[in-house]
Amino acid sequence: MHLAQQTILVVMMVVFSSTLVMAAGLVLALRANEAGRLWASGHVIASGAGLVVAASVGAGSLHLGALGAGAYIVGRLAIYRGVRVYYGLPDRANLLRATGAVVMVLMVLMSGLADGPMLIHAIGYGVLAMTSFTTLITLLRSARGRTSIGGPLVLASHLVLLGSQVAALGQAGSFHSQAMVPFFAQTASSVWPLAPLVAVLLGLFGFSLMAMEQIIARNESGARVDALTGLLNRGALDMTAMGLVARWQREREALSCLVIDVDHFKQVNDTHGHHAGDNVLREIAAALDNSRRASDIAARYGGEEFCILCPHTDEHQATALANRILRKVRAIELPGRGGHASVSIGVAQLHGGATSRESLWRNLFSEADRALYMAKQRGRDQFVLGSSMVIDEKPEARDDAQDEAQDGAPAPMDCATAA
Ligand code: GH3
Ligand code: MG
Ligand code: MG
Repeated sequence: MHLAQQTILVVMMVVFSSTLVMAAGLVLALRANEAGRLWASGHVIASGAGLVVAASVGAGSLHLGALGAGAYIVGRLAIYRGVRVYYGLPDRANLLRATGAVVMVLMVLMSGLADGPMLIHAIGYGVLAMTSFTTLITLLRSARGRTSIGGPLVLASHLVLLGSQVAALGQAGSFHSQAMVPFFAQTASSVWPLAPLVAVLLGLFGFSLMAMEQIIARNESGARVDALTGLLNRGALDMTAMGLVARWQREREALSCLVIDVDHFKQVNDTHGHHAGDNVLREIAAALDNSRRASDIAARYGGEEFCILCPHTDEHQATALANRILRKVRAIELPGRGGHASVSIGVAQLHGGATSRESLWRNLFSEADRALYMAKQRGRDQFVLGSSMVIDEKPEARDDAQDEAQDGAPAPMDCATAA
């Protein structure tokens, strides 16, 4: 099928009007996402520029066409900047803005020359092909290993754009028309010239999906993470605990739990204010996070209460972690001359028969919580083993030597452990 130039220009106007409306809506919808905002505003500029180019053909104005072509490039550079921001690369904002401005001025200046159309085509498609190529490389390098639905669509769109831009560059020598006719509307030999327009639509769709995927992923992780400390929150802890208990049911590998409460924390707030209290909580959370193994799960369970779940760890092995935490927290200075922070810890190991995962988790936590209560009663700044409360309530320091060997540092004198 052959398409007349006029038909192609009408299709061009329809496509760019649609992408302009869609992208304008996306500027608002994606304004909270920096990459999404750049993609949407880049498409607004490029779509508006596409309409200007199409209108310039009807008006027979090369100046207008050159202006449109320059603006189209500015839009594509903004889209490329969005790709860099999306993957956490330096956005090169100044360089890309300067490139866009220089190209735009060059385009308009060249439209007054005798060889204007040819030069504008050569420079325009050259810069566009370089932009598409760089975008493709950035996508291929940065997207490796990530699962995304939008990414492959954007990749496909840029492959088509690059192919058509390189083809157009090859034909630049034959462009002498006094209007800024886009290359795909010049020959009108088949429907293939419409491929770049379809690629623009596909790209806009792909970019929107990528931005939404990022927004959803951030919301999901935000719903799992405690905003003050960056540790998991209570909901995420419960979910993770269910998975670990299920594994315990299958493999019967030891699973231990530490429940940790900051000592006399109300005094910190009362004396130095909530803000100072928050800073202490952050420091304590960091101490917990730095004390745990990679496979342990640390969470902020409530106000000044934390919990660490330790897979493949029995109660006695967990005492090494408890000692490490006690020591690290003791090194945290309280505001003013308030001395140093301390925590009390209850340690328990999962036992139990064929009961539900929920009740196994509840029982494990309750046992550690009872042990924590005992640690408070025994004077705070120490840990108590859940099993010790049944067998022997007397504080001893039997495991300190064992822990010292694991930790390479003196164990605190005031840890209570089972006999
Ligand atoms: P104990 O040693 O018995 O645990 O004494 P405590 O003062 O730590 O215990 P209490 O339960 O009486 O007080 C806990 C305090 O923790 C009260 C509350 O104001 C404070 N708190 C809870 N959540 C936050 C928070 O997010 N930020 C700050 N700054 N304080 C909090
Ligand atoms: Mg408390
Ligand atoms: Mg407390």
